[in-house]
Amino acid sequence: MEKRDYYEVLEVPKNATADEIKKAYRKMAIKYHPDKNPDNKDAEEKFKEAAEAYEVLSNPDKRSRYDQFGHAGLHGQQGFNGMDDIFSHFGDIFSDLFGGGGFGFSGFGGGGGRQAQRHVNRGSNLRLRVKLNLSEINEGVKKKVKVNKYVPCQHCGGSGAQDNSFETCPTCNGRGQTVKIQNSIFGQMQTVSTCPNCGGEGKIIKNKCPECQGNGIVKSEEIIELNIPAGVAEGMQLSVRGKGNAGARNGIAGDLIILIEEEKDKELERDGDNLIYNLFISFPQAALGTTVEVPTINGKTEVKIPAGTQSGEVIRLRGKGLPELNGYGKGDLLVNVTVWTPKNLNKEEEKIMKSLLESENMNPNSDKDKSPFKKFKKFFS
Ligand SMILES: [Zn+2]
Ligand SMILES: [Zn+2]
Repeated sequence: MEKRDYYEVLEVPKNATADEIKKAYRKMAIKYHPDKNPDNKDAEEKFKEAAEAYEVLSNPDKRSRYDQFGHAGLHGQQGFNGMDDIFSHFGDIFSDLFGGGGFGFSGFGGGGGRQAQRHVNRGSNLRLRVKLNLSEINEGVKKKVKVNKYVPCQHCGGSGAQDNSFETCPTCNGRGQTVKIQNSIFGQMQTVSTCPNCGGEGKIIKNKCPECQGNGIVKSEEIIELNIPAGVAEGMQLSVRGKGNAGARNGIAGDLIILIEEEKDKELERDGDNLIYNLFISFPQAALGTTVEVPTINGKTEVKIPAGTQSGEVIRLRGKGLPELNGYGKGDLLVNVTVWTPKNLNKEEEKIMKSLLESENMNPNSDKDKSPFKKFKKFFS
């Protein structure tokens, strides 16, 4: 399915403020929440779509990447993974929107069954620098990296409890929240806050797992295969969903954020999707025309230098640059030509040069295209 534009999803303009985005998301989330639209696939899709759009547009860093590179700038090939993910930040958004101890929200199943607001532990994000050379950037690359991170504890299956010894939190009866009903000038209002006894998890460990001290996670390492798309650039960040630190007690893992670093190439300079090569040719080559070899990402290629090429001229080799990140096309290779002036001449060369000095064709003003006077005359003749 074609991914819709995030601004379009939230029905906000491209220059919407953070506040407008938050309000727009809140509206969508309320409208399409699964509790209000049971068994409605379309609403569920819209709900997910809005959550994904909000996740990106509410994060200044992700938003600017999205503005610059579109969907491809965000996750590489990684998608957005289902409802669990949404609820992990859904809790954040609503606690954020309504404040930590804010108003309860009757639209969300009231005091009843749904436990979307129960606290879910989220593992922290990990950051990793990956250095790529031009040819890797040109083709895209799969890289295996070893990452030191928290993983679920094998001993207790990530629960943090020895022999699964949990009991329901007596303070909140397993709901993870305490609810107070208050009368105010607006009528009756619920004040919801996170249960102080269980930290919002709704259950308490009786015997902590000795391996992880009840955290459900332990330090370890993991080999992760990165799939880096072609066309990335220095400073770009790609997030690999769910590959960060595991969340405590079977929570949700954070993301692995890849920071792209670019290795400087010895011969080719990068300018966006274009590549630049600085070519020096001799004066006779420039005057007579020649064929030279220039480096490209895929080995050398021959370039024809026409007779009469000036210093500073740029020869454009179309499609010999880097691929665009979105995969729509390729940049060019720009060959910057500099005519090199010799610094030392032997007697014979000096003689030839001096003889050329007298020649009318050596005079820059003889160039019809260059002389303003001749152009002027041409215009009126
Ligand atoms: Zn354990
Ligand atoms: Zn509790």
